[in-house]
Amino acid sequence: MSITTENPIKMQVPFVDFKRRYALYRKEVLSAVDDVFSSGHYILGPYVEALEKSLSTYLDCPYVLGVNDGTTALILSLKTLNIGINDEVIVPVNSFVASAGAVVAVGATPVFCDVCNDFNIDIGQIKKHITPKTKAIMPVHLTGRPADMSAILRIAKENNLYVIEDAAQSIGSRYHNQLTGTFGDVGCFSLHPLKNLHAYGDAGLIVTRNKAYYDELKLLRNHGLINRDHCVKWGLNARLDSVQAKIVSTGLLYLNTWNEKRRKNAARYQNNLKKYVQVPIDQENIFSVYHNFVILTEKRDALASFLQSQGIDTRIHYPIPLHLQLASKRLNYKLGDFPLAERLAKEMLSLPVYSELLDSEIKYVIAKIKEFFDE
Ligand SMILES: *Cc1c(COP(=O)(O)O)cnc(C)c1O
Repeated sequence: MSITTENPIKMQVPFVDFKRRYALYRKEVLSAVDDVFSSGHYILGPYVEALEKSLSTYLDCPYVLGVNDGTTALILSLKTLNIGINDEVIVPVNSFVASAGAVVAVGATPVFCDVCNDFNIDIGQIKKHITPKTKAIMPVHLTGRPADMSAILRIAKENNLYVIEDAAQSIGSRYHNQLTGTFGDVGCFSLHPLKNLHAYGDAGLIVTRNKAYYDELKLLRNHGLINRDHCVKWGLNARLDSVQAKIVSTGLLYLNTWNEKRRKNAARYQNNLKKYVQVPIDQENIFSVYHNFVILTEKRDALASFLQSQGIDTRIHYPIPLHLQLASKRLNYKLGDFPLAERLAKEMLSLPVYSELLDSEIKYVIAKIKEFFDE
């Protein structure tokens, strides 16, 4: 492979760069921090309520609850739906480990389902995983691309199952013009620094249209306490910090701009790379916020190391499907159980797509990928 290039200047393109984002609205973040610290409200309280209110408007969903992280959002949701020991939850096998971990945390069993080329749960395979123990389906809108929610809701209804959306990667994504996370019985979001809308630490959200679920979630978020002294149910501490809530409120004003920028970056990659690799395709009625931009190529490992040698940082989401994780051992899966996810694990590569990526950096990434394939 030739190392000479039309563009001899070697750049460093990080996969993510939180510092660039901070620099964009540093004054607002600092003033948010100062407001909260001066107020004396440090946990829950008016800043968390203000965030919940503005997110309820943004998501067009009546009930929003701020919690301490996305994984706990899933755990509280499962508990609220009374899912626990002897119950099964259908989870796509290509996801972040937290989707399955939350199910195990409440004592239930994750039952994995293969995914499609778009990285989301394979609708055609859900039914064969349903047993008398199945209580819920947990679609994950992976990479920010909405799963096929009408099909999932239909299967859930036919089989009397709950739907818990893991929308950790998809805030702002729309399926037939409705925001992801608002379709199921509950939707869970992460506000981890990596996510499109984020705190400066851990934070998460639960959304629902069901008032009874909301009341229960709220109770469980704070130890099951109905007031200072009376505990009506064993809950946990899943409270959101005021300072994180206020910072997220500040970021929410920029979310659509950031998401649009990601979509623009994605479009650049799509137009320039489709001859060389498989790129995600924007289908009708699907609005993805490109939390990740994942290409597929049989030459994945060689491409990733070439890009690394050229200063371009990439990732794999995810290199080990959930059924092959050591933690899944007692679930008795084996290699070959989920052929598509296993193939994707070898062919997927996530390119930097964050909103602060410079024009020159995108050009450089595209040029280097072309160089690799044109060699
Ligand atoms: C980030 C993420 C989570 C977990 O969220 P945390 O806030 O890190 O606990 C769960 N599921 C998916 C798909 C994620 O990407």
